[in-house]
Amino acid sequence: MSFNLDFTLTKYSQFIHTLKECGYFFLTFEQYCSDKPNLAENQYVILRHDVDLKAAHSLATAKMEHELEIDASYYFRVVSQSNVPEIIKAIAEMGHEIGYHYEDMTLCEGDTEKAIEHFKQQLDYFRRFYPVKTICMHGSPRSRFDGRDLWKHYDYHDFGIAGEPYFDVDFSKVFYLTDTGRRWDGFNVSVRDKIPVYQDEWVEKGLVYHSTDDIIAAADAGNLPKQMMITTHPQRWTDKEVDWLVEFVSQSAKNVVKKILVRKG
Ligand SMILES: [Zn+2]
Repeated sequence: MSFNLDFTLTKYSQFIHTLKECGYFFLTFEQYCSDKPNLAENQYVILRHDVDLKAAHSLATAKMEHELEIDASYYFRVVSQSNVPEIIKAIAEMGHEIGYHYEDMTLCEGDTEKAIEHFKQQLDYFRRFYPVKTICMHGSPRSRFDGRDLWKHYDYHDFGIAGEPYFDVDFSKVFYLTDTGRRWDGFNVSVRDKIPVYQDEWVEKGLVYHSTDDIIAAADAGNLPKQMMITTHPQRWTDKEVDWLVEFVSQSAKNVVKKILVRKG
């Protein structure tokens, strides 16, 4: 019996190989921030991974990318499911970028003064592994707080941070794909991981993909935009059957809940 399953490590490898063969070069978000003026009309993918859970899975994607001579950005949370020092260290040693996947507003229940202190402490902590230059919000759909609200009161540049994807990617040029909701067209069920305004334009242009195979087919046909940011959650991408099933079942249930949250606005 042979299955063509999505969100496996095998599928991820096929995906990355296809993009490489189609002429995309890969950038970390840090490289994008510093090279932005020189990138012009080049064909590139900013490859971002949000390590929400199951840190060990990110080691597998990091190794695979390293073998393909690709550097990506790995964002770690402070919680124990993500923050595993040996894994952060190993990924940094491969040459990948390490960033802080911050959720200080949620952890400090919206107290901005506490949250900025917490932010500074965690940033120092992650800088023991890598000279962290970029950060990225963890957009928990169940939290009342939006992490980005911290930047209504403070400026992350003051802490040596060059960029935050939700603020510093030029989405008028860069198409955004995320596997949030364990699908590539989850912007309808996503509470926070979505790009206002531009998402509507992308839908109008037909840039909507459900499965990884759909994106692979579009790449092969030359129909994908030349500049993209791709975000994955490595916890979903596994060849281990039990993990794969758990992720499949729990995400299907969560998407129903998220749909209700989005409707409630
Ligand atoms: Zn996250």
